[in-house]
Formats: sequence, C-alpha cells, structure tokens
Amino acid sequence: MKRLFSPEGLRALDAFVASPVLFAFDFDGTLAPLVDDRDAAVMRRDTARWFCDLCARLPVAVITGRSASDIAGRLGGAAVRYAVGNHGAECGDDLAPFFEASRRARASLSSSLAGVRGVSIEDKGTTLSVHYRDATNARAARDAIARALRAVPVPVRVIPGKRVRSVVPVGAPHKGDALRLLCARAGVGAALFVGDDVTDEDAFAVGPSPRVFSVRVGPSRRSRAAYFLEAQADIDRLLARIVTTAHT
Ligand SMILES: [Mg+2]
Repeated sequence: MKRLFSPEGLRALDAFVASPVLFAFDFDGTLAPLVDDRDAAVMRRDTARWFCDLCARLPVAVITGRSASDIAGRLGGAAVRYAVGNHGAECGDDLAPFFEASRRARASLSSSLAGVRGVSIEDKGTTLSVHYRDATNARAARDAIARALRAVPVPVRVIPGKRVRSVVPVGAPHKGDALRLLCARAGVGAALFVGDDVTDEDAFAVGPSPRVFSVRVGPSRRSRAAYFLEAQADIDRLLARIVTTAHT
C-alpha cells in the first residue's frame, strides 16, 4: 500500500483521472467522519463544498452500508449521479430472493434477541443492521448477537462494524458488484474508489476491468487498496485535487 499524497501517488492519480472515470465513495469514515451516533454523521463543510463541485462536473457514485433513502438526506444537495445502499445489495435486477432471506433472518433475530437490552434491529430491505450501541454491557450484547446469528435459518454474511453487525444474504450483490455495474451504466472503463472498511475491500478488489484506482482511508497491511490517505480529513485534499485535475 502506498501513500497517495506522495510525488509518485499524485502522479499516478493525475494520470488516472486524465481519462473518463467514475468517482465512487463510501460514506461513513470516508466522506463523513465516524461518529458515535450514526444518525449524526455528516460531511464537514469543506468536504461538502468540494463534493458538490465534483458532482457538478463529473459522474459520482456513493456506495454505502446505509439504505439509499438514508444516504439521500446526507449528501448536502450534491448532484450525485448514483447512490447505492446496503453495501451494494440494492443494485441488480432480481433482488426478491434477498428481500425474502433478509425477512427470514429478521424474524429469527427478533425472536432470539427479544429481551436483550440495548440491541435493536434496523431493517434496510435487502440487508439488516443489528445495533448494540445502546447496550450498557457491550460484551454481553455482542455475545447474544453472535448466538442469535448462528441460529439464523438462511445463509448470511456477517460484517462487523462499530457497535453494529451488518447481516447480508449470501449471494447478494456487494460493493464490487455495484461498482462494476455503475461503470457499465456510466459508460466508463475506469473508477476511482475510496473507502475505509471491510465491505469496501470488495470494491478495491475489482479489476482489471474496469480498472480501479483504489484508495483506503487509513493504512492497513491487510487491505487490497493500492493507496491510502493518512486520515479521513485528507478526503478534502483528494476531492480538491480531482476537481482541479480530472478530465471533464
Ligand atoms: Mg465506511
């Protein structure tokens, strides 16, 4: 993994965005700082300004774990061309099996977790989020959730997050699938993707077709991203760089 803000990283970035590219971003921890209360997550003012500029000039996508309706209200009125929620599981032609799997998982989890204090299930349609940020005993809540997840009668992928477990039906489209589909829709053969978390690895791993310029917020030895930003606040500098150098 290489530092993006190095002479070599910037040269590679400028060369990549000199031809048509879809600019795709995760939201929490990427465009917006991570906060304890996820309902309070917003972009900083400077980020929002650069992001609006970028959206006005170039094709932009946000691919997030939030539901599409949740994310729509957090983009500061920017003219985002594509917003895909549920870690990518909102794109594709036949989502009915994933709605059904998610419904069955929800019924099972609701009954297993009834009476566990501080745990709530957010139904996002094709996926679920089991939150435990209100639990006074986080460890007990986590254990109860782990037991409940083992009893779910459909195959699911469990993605750990900050005081949340995301529950995604196996086989549902992921962020990499969404990125591929959006590139095809936008008619481009290349995408820049920025993310910070486990589910973003699916998008980092896309390629060689479409070509992906992958950037992770924060260095990680396990990540498949080619470049990293030191900190979330550096997203402003990246957006500014793209706005001023990208092919339009
Ligand atoms: Mg994130």
